[in-house]
Amino acid sequence: MSERPRFPARLTNPAPPAGRSAFAIKNVANGPGAAWGGDPLRSKNQAMPQASSGWGLDSGAVRLRMVQKLAAQGVQAPAVLEAMGAVERHRFVDSGLVNQAYEDTSLPIGLGQTISKPSVVARMLELLLGAEGAQHGRLGRVLEIGTGCGYQAAVLARIAREVYSIERLRGLHDKARENLRPLRLPNVHLLFGDGMAGYAKGAPYAGIIAAAGGEALPQAWCAQLALGGRLVAPMAMQGGRQALVVVDQTRHGLKQSVLEDVRFVPLKSGIA
Ligand code: SAH
Repeated sequence: MSERPRFPARLTNPAPPAGRSAFAIKNVANGPGAAWGGDPLRSKNQAMPQASSGWGLDSGAVRLRMVQKLAAQGVQAPAVLEAMGAVERHRFVDSGLVNQAYEDTSLPIGLGQTISKPSVVARMLELLLGAEGAQHGRLGRVLEIGTGCGYQAAVLARIAREVYSIERLRGLHDKARENLRPLRLPNVHLLFGDGMAGYAKGAPYAGIIAAAGGEALPQAWCAQLALGGRLVAPMAMQGGRQALVVVDQTRHGLKQSVLEDVRFVPLKSGIA
C-alpha cells in the first residue's frame, strides 16, 4: 500500500505566463472579481517561503487553477466547478503520480484501469446535470458504472443526493473504499458487481454515468432511468471510434444523442 500523499507538496510547475490575469471564470464559490484577478499560483508563491527546488504550494491553489482551466474550456455548471474544486484528486492516485494529479490527464489506478482526466469528468457531470429532472443544478439518485479509485464518486457526492457506484474488480472496489473512507460521505454507496445489469435496487435513477465503454448500451441502464433522467456513457461507434452518448428518458420514450469522440477503458461483463 503506497503512502498517501501529503500537501503542501513540492510541485515543479513552470512559472505561469506573465500578464495572464483575467480568468474567464464565472459562478464559482468565490465568484468573479478581485480574488480571481491574479494568478493564484503566483500570489501563493509570493506568500510562501521559496522551496529550494520547485514551488511550495498547497493543493487548494493547484485545484483552483485546474478549475479555472475547466471554466476557460467552457464548463459552466457552478455545482460541477465547485465539486471539482473541492475534491482532492491527489488523494486518489498513487504517491508517484501526485505531481500530475491536477493536470488534465488520465492516470493509471492499477489493474489496467485509469482515472479519467478532469476535463472529461467535468464534461460528463455537466451533461448529467443537463437532465430534465435535475433541479437547481442538483441531481437526485445517481448510478455510476465503474467506481475505479472512487474519485468521480466523490465528485458526484457533491452534486447528487445519493450515489450508487458499482465496480467489477474487487481490487479497485476495495481501493475506492479505502480512498473514500476518510471523506465520510454518507450518500455514497459502493457496490461490488457487474454494472452491465445496472443496480435495480436503487432504481429509478435521475442520472446514470458510465466510466467504461461497450459495444452497445446495456438495456438495463435505460430501463433503470427515471422519467426526466439522463444516461451519459461512452459507446463504440463505427470504425473503432468511441463517442459519448446521452440518453434521455422522456415522456415520448428514449432520446439518444451522440456527441464527441472519447477514449475510455472497455466495459466488461462479470466480476474479477
Ligand atoms: N470513475 C472512475 C474511473 C474508473 S475507469 C474513477 O474516478 O476512478 C472505469 C472502471 O470501470 C474500471 O475500474 C473498470 O474495472 C470498471 N468497469 C468496467 N466494466 C464494468 C462493469 N461491467 N461493471 C462495473 N465496473 C466496470
